[in-house]
Amino acid sequence: MAKRNLRIVKRVRNVPVIAICELCNTEFLGDPNMGNAQSAIQSQFNAHKCKSEVASQAAARTVSKTTKDK
Ligand SMILES: [Zn+2]
Repeated sequence: MAKRNLRIVKRVRNVPVIAICELCNTEFLGDPNMGNAQSAIQSQFNAHKCKSEVASQAAARTVSKTTKDK
């Protein structure tokens, strides 16, 4: 099973303001003026459901079945 990963794509004054989920490319926005942008982004990431998780699992099954049939 693929592990989802949070990737910071933009920082302002060393504070993360834009991050994406590497698995489904959902974007998370932090507010550099709030002081806790890092944890705000992290909790948005923890709460989100990957959009393409079902699709990618189905794709992974298809790939392994194809490999097995060879
Ligand atoms: Zn995701």
